[in-house]
Amino acid sequence: MMPALIEEQTIQAIHKHTADVFTKLRTIRRDLHQHPELSGGETRTAHQIAENLKHLGLVVRANVGGYGIVADLITDPALPTVALRVDMDALPIHEINQVPYRSTIPGVMHACGHDVHSAVGIGVAHVLSKFGRALPGNVRFIFQPEEEQITGARRMIRDGALTDPTPIAIFGLHVAPLPAGQIAWSDGLFLAGFDHYLASLKPQSSVNLTLSDLDVVAKRCVRAILRCNQWQLPETWQAMQTFWGWMQTDSHELRHFIIYDASMNDEDPEMWHGQFGIGIKAATPNLRLAALGRIKARLNAICKATLTQYHLEHAGTMPDMINNSTLVRSTFPALSSAFMPQQLLHLRAAFPFNCEDFAYYTKYIPGAMFWLGAADTKNGKYALLHTPDFDVDEECIATGTTALSILLYEALLQERK
Ligand SMILES: [Zn+2]
Repeated sequence: MMPALIEEQTIQAIHKHTADVFTKLRTIRRDLHQHPELSGGETRTAHQIAENLKHLGLVVRANVGGYGIVADLITDPALPTVALRVDMDALPIHEINQVPYRSTIPGVMHACGHDVHSAVGIGVAHVLSKFGRALPGNVRFIFQPEEEQITGARRMIRDGALTDPTPIAIFGLHVAPLPAGQIAWSDGLFLAGFDHYLASLKPQSSVNLTLSDLDVVAKRCVRAILRCNQWQLPETWQAMQTFWGWMQTDSHELRHFIIYDASMNDEDPEMWHGQFGIGIKAATPNLRLAALGRIKARLNAICKATLTQYHLEHAGTMPDMINNSTLVRSTFPALSSAFMPQQLLHLRAAFPFNCEDFAYYTKYIPGAMFWLGAADTKNGKYALLHTPDFDVDEECIATGTTALSILLYEALLQERK
């Protein structure tokens, strides 16, 4: 671990600027929460964000990679630039919370906290712009659409989010079912990538099977693949906390996890019978290959017994989201001067159940992201992602704003060293 360069008085100033803007950020979050927009349709969200950033004097570029926004806080073009990425889109989930700021759009909801992320991004822009010429470099803010479709990052990169200038590093965060006030990170694999396949069944030659026969076999294949799973997504708060505990210890099994997914898309009219999708998430690409071998063995056995044959088509790969360990080790120690030790969780294993298209940025420049605890268990807010009663303790907006402001500031100081 390197010693942090950020000074105590800078940390105090970041705390103060965060506290000053907190009420405004909560209002922004609630406004975005009331007006959620699905991936690819983030027009109002983008407009609200852009207006806030223009008020702060940032150079704002809209419609980047869809409705994405690239905004530059420029201190001196000769100095290095560090980047922050937050996502903006909502999910096709109907909110059941009875809160004054509940979604006004039936069937659409910020159930993954991207409203919180957007508010935090605006908060960091506010805090760091207060430093004026004292800021030791420039900051690029990347507000990214279409994260849930995992298309947004690639589109924004293609549209120049990482050029003119190329940032020295990029940071990000995601809310998590941890108590608000906590921050959890790793200095390696943070979220697994996955491989996606499309499987198609047909009868063996000279065998007569109906389309619904093929569907029965496909369902059997799906069940057989799902039974390979050793790990299930923890469904209760208690089980979830136990899981975070395992991630902090050097749990061998969790460092070598594989998550199998398989499903038939019955609602898709384009689907032909006997087709199903397969997803494999695992801690390494080699483990994903081993998992594929295991799946093939199961499919072979079922096809032999049912006089069918299968064809697998590789439909895509999502890269692993790996935190850059040099970046983490040079910047995260700065958080120790701003937070209590019990707020900072160093994870030794990745969270196996989610993935993140933040991974695409880290293919070009060093990157790191962390989990932002968002739960308020006393008031029944568990921050379980993608659930219809998802909600957060809004204090997490302040924690996220402070933490990211410190990390970006520290990254610029380390670069100048
Ligand atoms: Zn999300």
